[in-house]
Amino acid sequence: MKIFEDIKKIKGIGDKTAALFNRLSVFTVEDLLHYYPRTYVKYEEPVKIKDALDGETCSMRLFVNADFKWKKVRNLSIGTGYASDGENTVAVTFFNVPYLKSKMVKGARYIFRSKLIIENGRYKLEQPSVYTEAEYEDLMQSLMPVYPLTKGLSNKTVQKSVERCIEDENYPSMYEEYLTEDIVDSFSLMSTKEAIKMMHFPKDPLDLLNARKRLAFDELITFLMMVRRYEKGSKKREQSSFAMIESALPERLIEKLPFELTDGQKDAYNDVKEDLCSGFIMNRLIQGDVGSGKTIVAFLAMLTCAGNGYQSAIMVPTEILAIMHFNNLKKMIDDYDLPVNIHLLTGHTSAKDRKEILSSIKENKGDLIVGTHALFQEDVEFNDLALVITDEQHRFGVRQRQYFSQKGNKPHILAMSATPIPRTLSIVLFRDMSLSVIEHKPSNRLPVKNCVVGTSYRNKAYEFIVSEIRKGHQAYIICPMVEMNEGIENIENVTDYASMLKSVMPKDISIDILHGRMKDDVKNKVMENFVNRNTDILVATTVVEVGVDVPNATVMMIENAERFGLSQLHQLRGRIGRGDAQSYCIFLNCQKNGKDNERLNILNSSNDGFKIAEEDLRLRGSGDIFGIRQSGRIKFDIADIYEDHKLIESINDLIDDISEKDPSGTLSCYIPLYEHVRDNEHKFIDFNTI
Ligand code: ADP
Ligand code: MG
Repeated sequence: MKIFEDIKKIKGIGDKTAALFNRLSVFTVEDLLHYYPRTYVKYEEPVKIKDALDGETCSMRLFVNADFKWKKVRNLSIGTGYASDGENTVAVTFFNVPYLKSKMVKGARYIFRSKLIIENGRYKLEQPSVYTEAEYEDLMQSLMPVYPLTKGLSNKTVQKSVERCIEDENYPSMYEEYLTEDIVDSFSLMSTKEAIKMMHFPKDPLDLLNARKRLAFDELITFLMMVRRYEKGSKKREQSSFAMIESALPERLIEKLPFELTDGQKDAYNDVKEDLCSGFIMNRLIQGDVGSGKTIVAFLAMLTCAGNGYQSAIMVPTEILAIMHFNNLKKMIDDYDLPVNIHLLTGHTSAKDRKEILSSIKENKGDLIVGTHALFQEDVEFNDLALVITDEQHRFGVRQRQYFSQKGNKPHILAMSATPIPRTLSIVLFRDMSLSVIEHKPSNRLPVKNCVVGTSYRNKAYEFIVSEIRKGHQAYIICPMVEMNEGIENIENVTDYASMLKSVMPKDISIDILHGRMKDDVKNKVMENFVNRNTDILVATTVVEVGVDVPNATVMMIENAERFGLSQLHQLRGRIGRGDAQSYCIFLNCQKNGKDNERLNILNSSNDGFKIAEEDLRLRGSGDIFGIRQSGRIKFDIADIYEDHKLIESINDLIDDISEKDPSGTLSCYIPLYEHVRDNEHKFIDFNTI
């Protein structure tokens, strides 16, 4: 059998069983070998019948009282008899196990293992597994795999099938060593083929640990080498054709701002300023939790460009956010009398405006441009684009980042992200980028007060919202859906919710709705009304999730909070607590059974985005870690970004070492490694889809 062959090649797997395996996404021999157990059980010392619990699986050391009786009922062969441990007797039944006929004879001793059934004070075993003393001894020494299953597929079938693959004469050649002896030694690795075997049939927990380590190593080295190759060339510092000097323009803004920049903002701005004036191309990521004030840093960077007579652009993932940014920046430009032009460019800019803006961008120097993806479009020609900023970086994939950096004459790149990525990871994924972290929020902010409540609290929540509105504040209410959807019950939708709300709220309270299916100009009008305090309550879907900044809003109530992801809820909550008044977030847990919700409890007890991201990861796996959720996916079978961060670091060093020894990638001792990477990299992520 070969590693890439259909599982039907495995003895005992026919069409029916194969279909069951397929349901678990197991199609090939390799899939099966990588179908690791969910957990392991240890066979325990046999117990006395009287000590066994009703309905629990257990092992008992018994002797057969008398030869079993075997009869045929239609095409079923049934064997019945009794076995005892000297004190108690148990009735045993077998179905279709002809080979036991010769074994279930008077006086024979075995270990019987299955669920014990107690019925009217009598003991029964149905279809127990039967082992000799020696066989059972062996089993007690090992951990038995327990696989995730689907209806119709037994644990035994999976186990047997895996066993057949591992015992196949071709198994050793399926996983030939691709690492040099040196690497194997220095990392104390077992071989991959041994590791896979151990994952399925470990003798003890130590085996499992070693096996896990090897398989995590296999995944991580492949992934890390792929990332390196992908970003190769972008690491070295490149001369910039936009050499800048410090400008008075941003300093003028800083002086006029009604608040002082936080230390984190100052540091980030200084980093950016140094980069821009260094003569090399900047490639920097600013990381800061929601509300930490990244926008102003971006603006200062743009003003530095303008002061040097260069253009700069900021790109955001949604139109609403583009408009918000534009209005914010425009207001500052007007309020503080800054001598710069700013343009808004989105997919819905009218053809006439677009034409004007495009010609201005093409001819003018020093303009600021705010936009969505529309900025990418072929017909946008910049005059002297020196800086590209991507806000909410995690919404953009690697590809887009690269694409944008090709617009213009290799501009400086500044990315901003609210997704807290551990430093070790940023180094790996954004290894070509320098990192500035804004750790603290402006000190005038009071932490958001949270509560998780059931639906019976709703009316109280409304009263509370009204009282906040009476104080001059505004509120968001978030619903998961846009409108009523057939077949999905108990999930609030924006449309019906808003009309319900209008009927229960005092007449003078204005309520508006916002969701992704609205026309853009309508959407923008709604947002504008909310920003200008014409609306008191905005009932919205998660379209408000990213970056929207209305400091006057102090309450957010999230309906069906149990349906959202942790990070998403944290981002949503980031819409409040942005001014100097106390803000409140009310999470409505609408689960029918009122069960405690682990995610909501985490949010309730913490406002720390970093911690929440880690918890999110723990609860959901590492799928979302690189924040490329809209496009590609990174998925490891074994490796864990957090657990293995030390291993990640040492593999990174190893790769540095290899590329130093073999800069051209031709050294024969590393060829098997390079080939391994090439053959396996597709498993983690499809960069082409980004
Ligand atoms: P984010 O990091 O989430 O993008 P923003 O840049 O939107 O945060 O800033 C959030 C709010 O905080 C804005 O209203 C902004 O004017 C305000 N802000 C920014 N920096 C400061 C500061 N140093 N002191 C007080 N308020 C600030
Ligand atoms: Mg922002």
